[in-house]
Order: sequence, then structure tokens, then C-alpha cells
Amino acid sequence: MVTPGRHTDSRARIEQLAAHASQFVECYGPGQAPRLFFSPGRVNLFGGHLDYNGGPVMPTAIDRGTFIAARSRSDRLLRMASAYDRQVVETDLDQLPSARVSKWVDYPLGVVLELTTQLAESGSALPGGLDILYGGDLPIGSGLSSSASICVGTAVMLDSLWSLGLSNLDRVRAALRAERHFVGVQCGIMDPYAIGCARAGHLLWLDCKDESIEYLPIDGAQLSILVTNTGVQRALAASEFNRRVDQCAQAFDILRSASVEATCLRDIPLEVLESERGSMDPVLANRAEHVIHEVRRTFEAREFLLAGNPEGMGGCMTQTHESLRSLYEVSCPELDLLVEAAATCSGAFGARLTGAGFGGCTVTLVRRGDEDEVQASLEARFEEEFGRCPQVDVFEGDPGPREIDWA
Ligand code: ADP
Ligand code: MG
Repeated sequence: MVTPGRHTDSRARIEQLAAHASQFVECYGPGQAPRLFFSPGRVNLFGGHLDYNGGPVMPTAIDRGTFIAARSRSDRLLRMASAYDRQVVETDLDQLPSARVSKWVDYPLGVVLELTTQLAESGSALPGGLDILYGGDLPIGSGLSSSASICVGTAVMLDSLWSLGLSNLDRVRAALRAERHFVGVQCGIMDPYAIGCARAGHLLWLDCKDESIEYLPIDGAQLSILVTNTGVQRALAASEFNRRVDQCAQAFDILRSASVEATCLRDIPLEVLESERGSMDPVLANRAEHVIHEVRRTFEAREFLLAGNPEGMGGCMTQTHESLRSLYEVSCPELDLLVEAAATCSGAFGARLTGAGFGGCTVTLVRRGDEDEVQASLEARFEEEFGRCPQVDVFEGDPGPREIDWA
């Protein structure tokens, strides 16, 4: 019998992590076996660009993610490498850099800085050095949140190796601050919560206004989550994402004067936007319009999910995509084509771009059993239009970051 809350990893997962441990030995040499951790990625089904506007979102963790192998050292060196960049980055724990180096290592380093600063502030002794190797089977930079995956996974690993006694939320918040303050992306709270608070078989309902969470079961026997990677690199993602955050802040500044109780854009009634629209920059008005309708749609999608109505859920996703395309302007032709193609598949309930957009992936809600038909149809349409095949995957859920027992 499986104890509630305990997850048994598949043989395939354990073998992947064991192979990662071998890479660790190639990188750092023999010695005590490293400890191994897995941290999932996430896909967001409902609530596009709502987290930094205080709205609700409904993501779920997926069974692809970041692998971490780590071993304690007897000195105070911190050495980090990635299977994607084998060059070992070495720092002294007593002289950690205070500014980012604009490389992948900023993500885990930001978490190390967060946690060591907290220790120093509380007067606790600073822990010993570590050798760490990252890797994984999650597409990077594709909107499946490899960045939050590596950050939350690092917090979980450090908590364990340094015996910090952190709560789940402490780890989520350390990951969030690392990405926001050290890496410098003005990201919302969704990604680290989606990963750090994951529960298999559920969508996470996260209300980003008060950070409250609920677990909503998703019927995996009836529904599949299919993710299609356009392969379009999100070159503009970081700068355009920060621009959307600024535009929403500007729109809220204008609209709040006509809605005194509002504390974020999520709170602005549609009538207020309509009455102020004439005196607003049309771009700001469009951004606000997306957010206001998207909040309503996300509540509707929640009702459809609870009522077991996948057609309703899929309809919300497709409407969300249209709004992200036309009002929020974060789509691209490749994403639009995949959503259009999904609309013609009888086994697909709906689709939308997932993550911040500007390339990356779409998520399609599919009737369980119809995945192959939908995949073939998406691939054929995409190939016809763009002359290459997109990567299509069916993701299952995941219980969240954890140590993998592999010995
Ligand atoms: P996303 O979160 O959608 O995957 P981001 O641009 O936010 O895209 O984050 C991707 C970045 O995260 C990568 O460019 C890299 O710097 C870092 N990263 C994530 N996972 C790893 C990993 N396993 N090894 C090295 N760097 C990683
Ligand atoms: Mg990211």
C-alpha cells in the first residue's frame, strides 16, 4: 500500500537519475555517492498573465523536470555545473558574488544567496561547501518553467543537505526572490508555487492576490495534457515580459482612481475600464481588458473543471489564446496555427499558448485515448505551414520536488 503523501518513483525515473549520478562522477571525480533530487516543470492551463495582476491561475506540475546531484565538501567551496554547460563555476561560500553574472548559474546562485543571507541574519553558522550537477529532461526556455524548476529544486536540495528545516513556502519564496531579485525577471508567483506546492492528479488553484491555494482534481482517466513545442526561441521573452508587467502597472494606476477599493488590476470592474477607455492609451486599455476578462474566464474554467465539463474548459482555453494574441500581443504565428489546428481535431477540447508566450509551447486539452490522432493532426498542419515538425509530448502530473531514493 502507498502511504498517503508518499510517492514511489518509476524505474525509468530512477534510472535517469542514476545516469545523472554517473555524469556527476565524470564531472567531479569519485568519492561519496551524490544525493539526487528531481524538481518538475509546470504547465499552466488557465489564467494567462494573471499572476502578477493578482488574479487566479490553474497550473499543474508535469513529469519532466530538473535533475540535481549534490555532494557535501569538507571545505567552503561551492562548485556548480550543468549537463547543458559542463564548465564548473566555482565560488567561495564566504565570498559569494553580489551581482549576477548573466549565465545559467545565476538561478541556483540566487537561491544560495537567499538562504545563506537568511542564515547570516539569524546568526546561524554558515554551512559547508557542495559540488552540484544540474541536468534534466525538461525543454529549457520553452515556457515550461525550467527556471522555477531549477530554483525550487535548489532550495529543496539545500534545505536537505544543509539541514535548514525550511517549510515548503520558505523554499518557494526563496526560489521566487532568487529569480526576481538576483536574476532580474519581474516574474509573478505562479511558477514556484506550481512546482513547490504540486500535487499529482490535481490542478493547483492559486489565488495570486492572497496567495491562497486549493487542489482541484483533474480526471486523468478522461483527460490528457498535450504540449506542443513550436521550437521558436523566446528571444523577446524577458524584455517583453517585463514590459507587460510595466504596462499592467500603468493601466492599474490610471484605473484605480475610479475604483477606490481595488488593490490590483484583477479588482477593476469591466465598467470602470469601459468608462475610462477613451482617455487611456489604447495599448494599456487592451492589456487591462485581457486581464479583466481572463479573471472571469478562469473562474468559469474552475466551474467547468469541478462540473466535469471538458468542452467548457477547452472553450475557455481557446478564448484565452485569442485574447493573448489580440489584446495582450504575446503570441506568434506558430502558436496561433497550433491552436487553430487543435480546434479542428475532434479529440481536442481546446488549446492555448502556455507560459509567457513569444514562442515556446501550446497546451492542448485532449480526450484520453485520442492523443495520437491529435498529435498527428498538429504535426501535419505545422509541417505544411512551417516545413518542420514540432515536438509533441503528453505530460502526466507530478507530486513535486523531492529526493530520489536510488541506491
Ligand atoms: P523557462 O522557465 O520557460 O524554461 P526561462 O528563460 O525563464 O525559461 O529560464 C530558462 C533558463 O533557466 C535557462 O536559460 C538557464 O539559464 C536556466 N536553467 C533552467 N534549467 C537549467 C538546467 N537544468 N541547467 C542549467 N540551466 C538551467
Ligand atoms: Mg522561466
